[in-house]
Formats: sequence, C-alpha cells, structure tokens
Amino acid sequence: MAYSSIPKPGSLRGPCKDECKHRDCNEAHRIAGERCALCSDEIGFERNFCDRLDGIESPRHYVHLLCAELWADEQQRAKKVALKTTADVFELIDPVDPDSICKRSNGEFELNWLDGGFTRFQFLRLKDNPKIVVIDGPYMPKDQTAITHQIRIKVL
Ligand SMILES: [Zn+2]
Ligand SMILES: [Zn+2]
Repeated sequence: MAYSSIPKPGSLRGPCKDECKHRDCNEAHRIAGERCALCSDEIGFERNFCDRLDGIESPRHYVHLLCAELWADEQQRAKKVALKTTADVFELIDPVDPDSICKRSNGEFELNWLDGGFTRFQFLRLKDNPKIVVIDGPYMPKDQTAITHQIRIKVL
C-alpha cells in the first residue's frame, strides 16, 4: 500500500509555518487537516497515511497507515472465523475425534461424543490446542440423550 507523511511545518522539507502563497504548502496543510476515515483524528504531520482502502465506508479520502493496518487485520480475522466450516474445525482439533461437530450461529462449535467415546485425554488435547479456546464443557446436553459429552469451542 502506497503511503506518505507530511513533514512538520517549518522543517527542511515541510511546508511553511506561517501563512504563505505556495501552492504545495497550502496543499500540505489542507491534507494534514483532513480527518482519517477510520479514527476521525486529523491526518496530521509526521504520521504515515494512505488513501482510503476499498471496503472502508466513508466519504473521507485518507486513513492513517496504522489505522489501515489494524482495520485490515480485523477484516482478515473476521473472514477467517466466518469461513470456518465443521470440516475446518475437524482438521484444527485433529487428532481429537468427536462423533459430530455442530456449528452454532455465533461462530462457536459444539463437539459431541456419543456413549463411551470421550476420554479425558481428548479434553486435555483440546485445552492445549493453541488454535481454539474451550468455552464450556464437557457437559451432558439436557435435550439430547444420545450425547454423553459436549464441549463448546471457539476458533481463534
Ligand atoms: Zn509556503
Ligand atoms: Zn486514523
């Protein structure tokens, strides 16, 4: 992503400190006074900024580079969680092998074991897995008698 920053007024490469008639100086002050499309702070001087990225809804033209990077990271993370399927989760938790995996609407997953399939070892494996978080369980779901152990996880 192409970016730049505006040097401080009065510095060697910066615009004039006081009012002047230079076109470049006026342009520099104008851009520095514009607001970031993400954080709404002024673009300012000596701060890296770039054009607003595709996907950022705003009438403003510029974003701070740091704000843009955080935003892009956030987009990436949201995408990853949204795209996870039960097959992805099965791969993530391998070699733990539940009898079924169900996706919940909030992006969490339920791992289900039927009679006798669950071991404490599997639970420890899940706990140690850095790609997921165990949110709850193991417990026995009230409405489903076939399932003896259920664990709720979230994918990081
Ligand atoms: Zn000037
Ligand atoms: Zn910003």
